[in-house]
Amino acid sequence: MLTSVQNNIRITAKRLGLNSRQIEEILKVEATHSFKITLDNKKQYNAYRIQHSSARGPYKGGIRFHPEINEDEVQALATLMSLKTAAVNIPLGGAKGGVEVDTRNLNMSELEELSRKYVRILAPFIGPKKDIPAPDVNTNPKIIDWMVDEYSRLTGDTTKASFTGKSLTNGGSEGRDAATGRGGVIVLKTLLDLSHDLNYNKALTFAVQGFGNVGSYFAEIASKNYPNWKMVAATDSSGGIYEKGGLKSSELSEWKRRGKKLLDYDSNNKISNSDLFGLDVDVIVFAAMGGILNEDNQHIIKAKYVLELANGPILSSVEGALKNRGIIVIPDILANAGGVIVSYLEWIQNLQNEHWDEDIVNKKLKDYLVVATKDIYRRAKKDRTSLKDAAFAVAIERILKAKQA
Ligand code: NAD
Repeated sequence: MLTSVQNNIRITAKRLGLNSRQIEEILKVEATHSFKITLDNKKQYNAYRIQHSSARGPYKGGIRFHPEINEDEVQALATLMSLKTAAVNIPLGGAKGGVEVDTRNLNMSELEELSRKYVRILAPFIGPKKDIPAPDVNTNPKIIDWMVDEYSRLTGDTTKASFTGKSLTNGGSEGRDAATGRGGVIVLKTLLDLSHDLNYNKALTFAVQGFGNVGSYFAEIASKNYPNWKMVAATDSSGGIYEKGGLKSSELSEWKRRGKKLLDYDSNNKISNSDLFGLDVDVIVFAAMGGILNEDNQHIIKAKYVLELANGPILSSVEGALKNRGIIVIPDILANAGGVIVSYLEWIQNLQNEHWDEDIVNKKLKDYLVVATKDIYRRAKKDRTSLKDAAFAVAIERILKAKQA
């Protein structure tokens, strides 16, 4: 994933005429914190916080608890965060954190101890004006609430602006849960409007790979706002289901909320994840994980649009092949930026000691994303490049400009 992200940056930067020193400036990580967390039971875990760029503002990015996390992946995700905040033009930089742990093997008090110790080690390097972490895969508002509490105890900070993604009663923002999925809907609709793809605006079919938090909110908000957009398939890690006539996203979400697998949902049309890739739909939504579309499976895709709601689901090595087949990739740093935009809004609310209604948050989210989508669409037209290349171009230029300021 790191190679893929860095390749994308190099390709765009060379096209923009940047010299090798400037390219290295963009790729360079500002600080790497790599450490071990030891629990009272003596179990040890590798942990990271990689701060990629603060050129445009304090570092921003989630903390992931995952057994297969490693330093390279955290660096790739930190780099993507810098590009994402720049692409949607919020005044923040990019970072990412992670602990190499399978949380299923921890009880609640061990999970709390791990979360608090992570903050204890990092406290000198994070904070409302330095680096504002958030939840990511396998971390949630409860974990973030422990982290904020630990940070406040250590530093005396009372703003709660040291982390975002907190619970609503602890300074979290309305609309954060749904923000990434909602953002995906806004970006897709705006692009269809801009490209005058009117057929799709009237009716389109979509399939969701990774019907979790992001995927299910995308499906629910899309179905609610645009009844002619029809979800015909959805999968999770177990596989999933296909219904030509359309699936009810709210019922599937309820099923998942009860902790059940999609493969066990009552349907005669079970599918695997590779079946989903080859479906003849207008839009395929990747909302599971990075690096899932590669040389071996890219040829299966039939959809006209691929919406990257996960981070880095398509390897840079296959983007050319997709483009040659007329498949339009809507890039992650735009498509899934809804989450970081509402995180930014949460941070502002905390600093100003305010709590905004969900309608206000959603309106601001939409405003940011419509402007960003228009910027990137127009840039792609002007430079005759893909949307991904245009998004990277816009982001790289903004970061470079800030570094030179
Ligand atoms: P989640 O854990 O709630 O959902 C992930 C879903 O993907 C689960 O249903 C899981 O079963 C499924 N999945 C895992 N492996 C799969 C596979 N190989 N094939 C099909 N499905 C698979 O996580 P989430 O919060 O919805 O995040 C999804 C992705 O979006 C992640 O890549 C995350 O980094 C990215 N993302 C999330 C946010 C956010 O606000 N949550 C913001 C930006 C990006």
